[in-house]
Amino acid sequence: MNSLAKQVFKCANRLGARGIFVTAKNSEEAELNRPPLTFFAEDEEAMRDSVAKLAKDQIAPFVRQMENEKKIAEPVLKSLFENGLMGVQIDTEYNGAGCNFTTLMLAVEELSKVDPSVAALVDIHNTLVNSVMIKLGTKEQKEKYLPRLATDMVASFCLTEPSAGSDAFGLKTTAKKDGSDFIINGSKMWISNSDLAGVFLVMANADTSKGYKGITCFIVDRNTPGLTVNKPEDKLGIVASGTCMITFEDVRVPESSILGKYGEGYKIAAGFLNEGRVGIAAQMIGLAQGCFDATIPYTLERKQFGKPIYSFQGMQHQIAQVATQIEAARLLTYNAARLVEADVPFVKQAAMAKYFASEVAQLTTIKCIDWMGGVGFTKDFIQEKFYRDCKIGSIYEGTSNMQLNTIAKYLEKEYQA
Ligand SMILES: Cc1cc2nc3c(=O)[nH]c(=O)nc-3n(C[C@H](O)[C@H](O)[C@H](O)COP(=O)(O)OP(=O)(O)OC[C@H]3O[C@@H](n4cnc5c(N)ncnc54)[C@H](O)[C@@H]3O)c2cc1C
Repeated sequence: MNSLAKQVFKCANRLGARGIFVTAKNSEEAELNRPPLTFFAEDEEAMRDSVAKLAKDQIAPFVRQMENEKKIAEPVLKSLFENGLMGVQIDTEYNGAGCNFTTLMLAVEELSKVDPSVAALVDIHNTLVNSVMIKLGTKEQKEKYLPRLATDMVASFCLTEPSAGSDAFGLKTTAKKDGSDFIINGSKMWISNSDLAGVFLVMANADTSKGYKGITCFIVDRNTPGLTVNKPEDKLGIVASGTCMITFEDVRVPESSILGKYGEGYKIAAGFLNEGRVGIAAQMIGLAQGCFDATIPYTLERKQFGKPIYSFQGMQHQIAQVATQIEAARLLTYNAARLVEADVPFVKQAAMAKYFASEVAQLTTIKCIDWMGGVGFTKDFIQEKFYRDCKIGSIYEGTSNMQLNTIAKYLEKEYQA
C-alpha cells in the first residue's frame, strides 16, 4: 500500500457497527448518539474523498480507452491494488485496508461516478469473494489467498450457468468425490472479472441426491488443468468489465479447497449475494450521481430563448425530481449498508435498495440525455455511456423481478405475523 493509502485507510480499530460511534464514551451514549445516515466517521469520509480523487486523477483519463478496448487498463488495476481498493475489508494483518462495509460502499459509489465498469470489478471482488474468504476461510486459506486478493490477484464468483440464472440453485455443475479430491465438470456463464481473475469461487453440486443441499463452494485457481476461460461477451454496457463463460472439464481440486462447509454452498451464495446487492445499489447511485453531475452544468450554460435552459420551470421540476430520487436511493443504500454492518436482518432492505437504485439510475440517465438535447445522443459526451452502463443494475445479482419477489415475501411474512 502506498503512503496516500496508508494515511487514509486507518479503518481497522472500529468500535461500533457505525463508525461514527467511536466518539461515544460508552455503549449507552452510543445508543443515544444516532447520527443521520449521511454523516460518516472521519476514516470513512477520508476514504470516500481519497477514492473520489483517485477516480478523477487515475481512472477518468482511461475511461474512453477502456471502453474502446473493452478491458480494464493495467495502470487502473495497479492503482486499485496499490490504494487498498481490492482489499477494503481485508484485515491489515493480510495487507488489506481493514475498513468496514459502509466504507466499501462509499468507495464503490465514488468509482461508479467515474466508471461503473471499474466499480463492478471492485465491488464483485470485495463483496462476493473477499468477504466470503474473510468470514468462512480456514487459517490456511486466509493466509494463502487474502494477502494476494488485497495486493495483486483479481477474483471471480461463479454461480450462474446457461440453464440456471434466476433459479441459480438449479445449477448443473457437479463436483464428484474421488479419493480425497473432487472432480468438477460443468460450465458457468456471465462471470465478471474472469478475464483477469487468478482465482474463482465455484458453486458445484457435490451430492446431487440432496438437491440444492449438495451445492458446495470450491476455491479453484486459474491455472488448474481443465479450467477454460472463454472469450469475453460483447455487451451493451460496462463493457470494460470482462464477462466470460468458464468451462470445467475434469478439474481436480483437493478437499482443502472447499470454502465454508460441505453442502452449504447454497447458503454462501444466497447470503453473500444479499450483501452484494447493496454493492450494486451503491454502483447505481454513483452512476446516477456521476451522470447528473456531468449534466447540470450544461443546463446552466446552454441558452435557448435567450436564457439558460436550467431557468425554465419545466426543466427545474424534472431536475428536482431526479435529484430527490437519487437522494432517496442513496439513503436506502446507506441504511442497508449499516444494517449489514450491525449484523441485523437486512435482506428486504438490500433488495429494496438494489431494485430502487437501479430504477433511479435508469430514470436519471434517460433524463440527463433529454436535458442535453442532441449532443446527449452522441458519443462525445459521457451520458450515453452511463445510459448503457446502468442497464446491468436491474439484471445481475438477481433481476429486479427477483428483488420484488424477495420484498413481497418479507411483506407477506410481516403482515401474516
Ligand atoms: C454483465 C453480467 C455480469 C454478471 N456477473 C456474474 C458473476 O460474476 N457471477 C455469476 O454467478 N453471475 C453473473 N451474472 C449472471 C446474472 O446474475 C444473471 O444473468 C441473472 O441472475 C439473471 O439470470 P438469467 O440471465 O439467466 O435470466 P433469467 O433467469 O432467464 O431471467 C429472464 C427474465 O425472467 C424473469 N424471471 C425469471 N424467474 C422469475 C420469477 N420467478 N419471477 C418473476 N420473473 C422471473 C427475470 O426477472 C428476467 O426478467 C452476470 C450477468 C451479466 C449480464
